[in-house]
Amino acid sequence: MNVLRAKTAGFCMGVSLALKKLDTALAHGTCRRIYTLGPLIHNPQVLSLYAEQGVVCADETQHFSVNDCVVIRAHGIPRSLEESLRSSGVRVIDATCPKVKKAQLAIARATREGASLLLFGEADHPEVRGLISYAAGRACVLGTSAFSAPEIPTDLGLVLASQTTQDRAAFLELEARVRAYDPNVRVLETICDATKERQEEVRAIAGQVDIMVVVGGRQSGNTRRLADVSAACGIETVLVETASELRAENFAKKRCVGLTAGASTPNSVIDLAEKWLAAL
Ligand code: SF4
Repeated sequence: MNVLRAKTAGFCMGVSLALKKLDTALAHGTCRRIYTLGPLIHNPQVLSLYAEQGVVCADETQHFSVNDCVVIRAHGIPRSLEESLRSSGVRVIDATCPKVKKAQLAIARATREGASLLLFGEADHPEVRGLISYAAGRACVLGTSAFSAPEIPTDLGLVLASQTTQDRAAFLELEARVRAYDPNVRVLETICDATKERQEEVRAIAGQVDIMVVVGGRQSGNTRRLADVSAACGIETVLVETASELRAENFAKKRCVGLTAGASTPNSVIDLAEKWLAAL
């Protein structure tokens, strides 16, 4: 089988930085215990390797002692949670992706006079909960590009932003609808280039292959959206976490397969999928 592997497949800058911070904390050995607040990234294979090294994935109900280190995940956490962590005296290692942090601060600045925030994203995604917490005024999450008058006050202005990993084309559609409702809406550019590049490359590859394989964690929003973008190109798309989930019958009569991966998928996992496909 011919395999066309995306050049952008694999760790993005934010994931690499977060893992580097965790590796440094492990190497220093000065923390009584290292916790991550929620999964550091959305990839179960990577997380289980760190769990074997003693890293504990905790939630906000966890009691930390002052000699513990708490790593803030790449998606960021709600503002109040970060403030209470810092005031509790534990050592906080902020591994929030710089692009997520930039989006959080842009939302805080744009809404500080009370403007309401419309956020394009998945309401139950940790990044979205974090972004919303930076809005000074009212906020609501829009899950699709369909739009009707918001159920929040708009008299102090309207700000539109997006979860960093959303599809840019869908966001532009939403922007046009919101602008028709309020021509003065302030639009923040918060979609990450890493996501855009991966999605554009999937669209380019989709025209050259018979089927697409997307490798990544099922909890990973950007992985799921890569699969959606591929399917929307009209190409049969298979999403797997590891090569062990690939099934030969899905590739019968196919000559060329596209291979891409989410921003939190390690190269070693993509390499195994490529090897499996090439051997067909
Ligand atoms: S996809 Fe973009 S925003 Fe998300 S962690 Fe990676 S670099 Fe940061």
